Amino acid sequence: DPALRVTDLCLEYPDGTDEQGEPRTVRALDRVSLELAAGTMTALVGPSGSGKSSLLAVAAGLVRPSSGSVSVAGRRLEELPERELAGVRREHTGMVFQQPNLLASLTAREQLVLAAHVAGARGKELARARARADELLAQVGLENCADRRPHQLSGGQRQRVNIARALMNRPHLLLVDEPTAALDHARSHSVMELLADLTHTFGLASLVVTHDTEFVPLADACVSMQDGHLDAEQATTASGRVA
Ligand code: ADP
Ligand code: ADP
Repeated sequence: DPALRVTDLCLEYPDGTDEQGEPRTVRALDRVSLELAAGTMTALVGPSGSGKSSLLAVAAGLVRPSSGSVSVAGRRLEELPERELAGVRREHTGMVFQQPNLLASLTAREQLVLAAHVAGARGKELARARARADELLAQVGLENCADRRPHQLSGGQRQRVNIARALMNRPHLLLVDEPTAALDHARSHSVMELLADLTHTFGLASLVVTHDTEFVPLADACVSMQDGHLDAEQATTASGRVA
């Protein structure tokens, strides 16, 4: 099973009423189909309001589609009750948003260990989680920052902690929304490079929303959204490497 398979996905949001007082909807996703293979980083580009965040939200199981299907590691999310959905999310999906959302009172290591704790790790597993946290922090270039709290880290470093935290529970699918929105150009480039490296090292299927087309070449594939649908020509290359 591919890490993510989206078929004919539609998502409509309520949007007030029309002149006759009938409820109106806005179609955020319009028959989107996409497959992401392991070890592939796919850039998701498109103008503001084209549906990129909506696609990530549905893939994360945070928003239910109006129709169509979305499966993560072979589990069809639209058929799962809320509790099981949360389980799939914990087990298979890592998420990274624009703002790192770290807890102010915790060190970098503790942020990562907390993610394991929330996923159910206790006792010996927590000791192992501490070791894994240190490994991951080293992997994102923060070996000397494990004991620092967010205010002692730069913006780029905080986003790296955020990325490491998303990988704590060994996800197959990594969903990333504008990870560089708060960073300057050089730091944005290195964060995108890091995401590509981690994708290949861990065999992740990564979907990375980016505003900056300059970073697209760092991805293995690119899909482009326009008014809720994927550019048909590009969608077919999404599961393969771009030459
Ligand atoms: P992007 O991430 O590409 O900027 P979005 O997925 O955020 O696009 O938005 C797609 C469309 O759905 C837009 O027309 C947006 O206004 C609408 N939309 C997004 N979220 C909501 C919501 N919670 N309620 C109503 N409309 C929404
Ligand atoms: P980047 O955003 O690429 O990680 P910066 O230029 O912001 O890099 O930071 C450079 C160095 O300064 C980092 O190695 C970090 O250790 C240190 N640093 C940045 N901000 C702080 C801070 N608020 N407190 C302590 N050290 C900091």
